[in-house]
Amino acid sequence: MKMTKIFAVVTAMVLAVSMLAGCNGRTSNGGTVPKPVLPEGTNGKITKDPLELTIFLHMGGLGAFNDDMAYFKEAFDKTNIKLHGTASASNVDRTQEFNVMLTSDPLPDIVHGTNGELNNAGIDGAMFPLDDLIEKYAPNIKKLLADDPTIKASCAAWDGNLYFIPNMFTGLPSEGFYIRQDWLDKLGLEVPKTVQEYHDVLKAFLDRDPNGNGRKDEVPYFCRFTGIDALLQLFDAYYGFQVTPDGKVYHARTQPQYKNGMQNLAQWYKDGLIDKEIFSRGQKAREQLLGDNVGGATHDWFSSCGSFNKLSSQIPGFKWVAIPPPADVNGVVKESATRKRLSGYGWGISRDNKYPVETIKYLDFWMSDAGKRLFSYGVEGVDYTWGADGNPVVADVVKNAPESPTKYLRARGQHEFGTIMQIDAELAIMNNYAREGYKMYLDNGYCEVLPKMPVLSFTEEEGRVLKETASGCETYMNEQHQKWFMGTEPLNDDTWNAYLAQLQTLGIDRYVATYQSAYDRYAAFVKEQGKK
Ligand code: CA
Repeated sequence: MKMTKIFAVVTAMVLAVSMLAGCNGRTSNGGTVPKPVLPEGTNGKITKDPLELTIFLHMGGLGAFNDDMAYFKEAFDKTNIKLHGTASASNVDRTQEFNVMLTSDPLPDIVHGTNGELNNAGIDGAMFPLDDLIEKYAPNIKKLLADDPTIKASCAAWDGNLYFIPNMFTGLPSEGFYIRQDWLDKLGLEVPKTVQEYHDVLKAFLDRDPNGNGRKDEVPYFCRFTGIDALLQLFDAYYGFQVTPDGKVYHARTQPQYKNGMQNLAQWYKDGLIDKEIFSRGQKAREQLLGDNVGGATHDWFSSCGSFNKLSSQIPGFKWVAIPPPADVNGVVKESATRKRLSGYGWGISRDNKYPVETIKYLDFWMSDAGKRLFSYGVEGVDYTWGADGNPVVADVVKNAPESPTKYLRARGQHEFGTIMQIDAELAIMNNYAREGYKMYLDNGYCEVLPKMPVLSFTEEEGRVLKETASGCETYMNEQHQKWFMGTEPLNDDTWNAYLAQLQTLGIDRYVATYQSAYDRYAAFVKEQGKK
């Protein structure tokens, strides 16, 4: 989520210190591939007799594995392998739960966690390296990794081993531009197609009383996330690390485009086009400003934005729709906010597991078509049925779930473990306004225009350099960012040059070079995997 982006670098540093993709000299499990322990099953089941395995899966405030989850009962029916959870849902501090779990003896058979947690545990000898098991017993996972070498490049630990199977998404869009269509109509304005037109629409919202109450109370652009990166992209400017198509890594907040973007947006802010409280209003910005009929435009998640159209029952004519990203200063139409394909979580097999072969087959079930469908849609006959066109049809019990379809499915087992969320299932549970927006960004490929900075793994030495440089540089950049945007310090050639000089002192060159070397290693690993 965007509000965490500023701190993502620091977090990545802490999580990834001991990860390094692309190291040669792969070793695995003393050179022997484990053999099946139990007789194989029939009718596609993994074992002849039921087998119970323990699992640690904890998602903090989102809940933890419990033995009654419908998804895993269904998987038991299909595989003959039943899971028993070990995590306590009553403690919402999942990191603490994970660390306590690591001291348990024996370890749970299956361990779920973040990339960094699982790789660290693997390096420490707590997890099975999975490559040979996958090669021999997991055709679905094997195919996934062979088809896209970037997956292993992002997930492998510094010893070159893969210790976990990642959770993944299929659709990249996450957030987009939303606007009051009824205000555009009322003022006789078109949907803005360029950054200049977007500016002019916000100005009209400010000056021409689109809510019709005779007061200049409109807040043209607002955002519940701390930051303005959604608007910066209109000036081809960004927040964090970027990579050029030919592989050169740079920090976006040292670039002239950033200086130009900040100068423009500081003016927008001064002119009242951007919420005066954008840095402090917080999560309830949409409820407040749309509910009060004063908010005009934002940039936010499709799924939640679409639901605000229910306000049309209180505000006559209220219509809140996604629009394509306005073309940036170079005429490029693109969206910089995208979801990563890897959610950052996954699961693997602990060293105390006595059935590693049976277990990898079970993990492979979740990467089969049946497993991915179970994860995405739920249980056949309850959560979905088959339509005449051969596609799953989401049942009313999901669509009309009291809180939300997502919460309903999560309670049934849809947590971020090693499988792939199907985009059609996500679209099926969105309301029409959300789905239209999401599909607009998906079908037009807006999120695919900018080169993506992949998830990187750092060596111990690189981790040390990041500890010395990252938080100093990022904290200073954040402070200046806010000063310039709010106008408490002017942004001119002198202050900009002083900023660059101060970043030199704080070690920006070493900071960037570290990302460059990690990226180079990643790119080489992808290239090498692609040759296999
Ligand atoms: Ca007004």
